[in-house]
Amino acid sequence: MFDIVIGLEVHTQLNTTTKLFCSCPTSFNDRPNINTCPTCLALPGALPVLNKSVLEKSIMLGTAIGATVNRTSFFDRKSYFYPDSPTSYQITQLYKPVVEHGTLDIDFEDGTSKTIRINRAHIEADAGKNIHDGSVSKVDLNRAGTPLLEIVSEPDMFSAEEAVLYVKKLHSIVRYLDISNANMQEGSFRVDVNVSIRPKGDTKLYTRVEIKNINSFRFIQKAIEVEVQRQTEAWEDGVYDEEIRQETRLFDQVKQETRSMRGKEEAADYRYFPEPDLLKALIPDDMFAKFSDIPELPDEKKARLVSEYGLREYDAAVITADLETAHFFEAMLKEGISGKNAVTWLTVELQARLKGGLSIATSPVDAKTMGTLVKRIEDKTISGKAAKEVLDYLMENASDVDSVIEKLGLKQMNDTGALEKIIDEIIANNEDKAEQYRGGKEKLLGFFVGQTMKASKGTANPQSVNEMLKAKLA
Ligand code: ADP
Ligand code: MG
Ligand code: ZN
Repeated sequence: MFDIVIGLEVHTQLNTTTKLFCSCPTSFNDRPNINTCPTCLALPGALPVLNKSVLEKSIMLGTAIGATVNRTSFFDRKSYFYPDSPTSYQITQLYKPVVEHGTLDIDFEDGTSKTIRINRAHIEADAGKNIHDGSVSKVDLNRAGTPLLEIVSEPDMFSAEEAVLYVKKLHSIVRYLDISNANMQEGSFRVDVNVSIRPKGDTKLYTRVEIKNINSFRFIQKAIEVEVQRQTEAWEDGVYDEEIRQETRLFDQVKQETRSMRGKEEAADYRYFPEPDLLKALIPDDMFAKFSDIPELPDEKKARLVSEYGLREYDAAVITADLETAHFFEAMLKEGISGKNAVTWLTVELQARLKGGLSIATSPVDAKTMGTLVKRIEDKTISGKAAKEVLDYLMENASDVDSVIEKLGLKQMNDTGALEKIIDEIIANNEDKAEQYRGGKEKLLGFFVGQTMKASKGTANPQSVNEMLKAKLA
């Protein structure tokens, strides 16, 4: 039997308006090679100048993970040749990164949690993109020189589940801090997964395999599963030493396997050395003070929702897992409704109706409208059942809650006199059943409730109907 050991390197693209060392825009999806200049094209004589907002965002991340933020850090050159890198080296931070020694807590469904150590977070420049188009390969350098923060964990995760929880938590933190768009499809949040196995109980680290550039939570899970399987089989077949080498592999989601990209024989010699074109990266006191004052993080927001609105831990976790949902929820609450009702109408009713690529962020029904809808249930204008009809209508038609209630005639009957009249009539017409009820056949209450709701065309308040029927039948 084996234990699994996982360490993760997450590359998160910082959402600065300009690149790391030049003033080219970082916008996505522009015409190829339009966002370039002598610096990011590495033309002779052009010198890099550090973008200060990269340091500011690094301070925020460092603070969020309780790390040391180095007031002085350095840049290093990592040499490698690849068509998407016009410099033929990458500027990164090896010896003195901007952020060191942080932690991040992951929470399991059973309510327990675990602390994962983060070794460091360093600043580096992204490469461009190679586009393979039939027999031609093209290079787009728009992305060359955009700022990345690479966040490197210790090998502290022992299952695919823990790795996914860690990545999700980190993803949510950078979104809350608003330091990265962290869009996995667009590649602004990419994960390298390092995996090894070891016999149960052993504490030494065995050979790690690095699976590069995974861009979805599900693929992280899958890639780990298939790689662990490969390593386990090699061990059991007695060929572990030959087959499992420290190497970089690629996850093929179609074939559900990992494949070697480059082995030890071809391992790059990066010839790291201090970057001679850049000064030290200094963080002055005022900058540190300003940017270490960070916004509320997911865990804090979760705790606050539990204590302020009495949400269940689980609901609070669902609400705070992503920033859009959290914002939507808080905007609904501005209508003065109960937290619990807001949770249900957001995470159950609205969520179920968001189909065909719609999300909370692009919901056709906005938070204020959802809040008003819940308010109309709470103030007994409509029943919960009617509210679902209103919501169905609003998903298809732009309008407001009160107009739709009016239009669909869903206003609840809150006139007790009118309700009493209906109930008296129904009991009078069904004296036999009323007798049986009094004789102990309490199931028959459902029959009377049904008749009353039908007679009121669904506009009676079910709770009032129940109470009044019980009193009248007693
Ligand atoms: P490199 O740049 O060579 O990939 P890094 O230090 O940046 O090296 O990252 C190494 C990653 O691998 C870290 O996340 C670390 O926790 C992880 N790691 C190291 N040893 C093991 C191992 N035996 N099994 C799994 N993960 C490991
Ligand atoms: Mg690596
Ligand atoms: Zn440039």
